[in-house]
Amino acid sequence: MIRLSDVSMIYKAGNKALQDVSFTVEAGGFVFIVGRSGSGKSTLLKLLLKELEPSSGQILVNGVDLGDMPRRHIPRYRRTLGVVFQDFRLLKDRNVFENVAFALRVTGASGRQIRERVPRMLGMVGLSSKYKAYPEQLSGGEQQRVAIARALINRPDVLLADEPTGNLDSFHAVEIMKLLEKISQRGTTVLVVTHSHEIVETMGKRVITLEKGRVVRDEDCWYLDA
Ligand code: ADP
Ligand code: MG
Repeated sequence: MIRLSDVSMIYKAGNKALQDVSFTVEAGGFVFIVGRSGSGKSTLLKLLLKELEPSSGQILVNGVDLGDMPRRHIPRYRRTLGVVFQDFRLLKDRNVFENVAFALRVTGASGRQIRERVPRMLGMVGLSSKYKAYPEQLSGGEQQRVAIARALINRPDVLLADEPTGNLDSFHAVEIMKLLEKISQRGTTVLVVTHSHEIVETMGKRVITLEKGRVVRDEDCWYLDA
């Protein structure tokens, strides 16, 4: 569950990146965040990752108030989030299996846990047959599926994706969105930043529109009244 209450973010330079933003996403919910460049989308994700502190307002993630969180708890908090980026950010010198296993290994997982969980996760994203491939041997859509597997391997409560299909053609973009939808149906809260009207229309999910840092729309099937 994600809840923002009257969140504003003013950068030091005086830029009002977010103004009085409020919304709630229930556990297992799926929400698109759309808006022009500069409307505050990335700032919103950085606040949720606790990379930034809001100038005012309250942010709750799974009942925890990020404003009350001691600094030493931030790494543990971040492990409850999965993050996916536009540019995949895979390790080029490691194969698919190792890219996913790496994220598990850093949490101190045993060899046995890795051998059990990584293949299961690669199966979930449809990459079982490619586990030995290196990122450069994969299509963009496949690389993003590896990145999603890596983001999910530690079983996060929340998945944040910043333009995850920005580098993909529309076929692969829809494929990735269907995968994110499946993930939310399994109980993970999914928040996806996108520019693509085509995708938003195809998926028919809740859409929160930002304009100059303010929520100007928040509704399901956003295209119906466009
Ligand atoms: P989006 O991701 O929707 O393109 P951003 O959240 O990156 O928007 O930016 C929102 C606004 O905040 C923009 O006006 C941008 O110039 C400003 N901004 C973003 N990051 C910083 C920063 N580190 N310092 C000052 N202003 C910033
Ligand atoms: Mg951005």
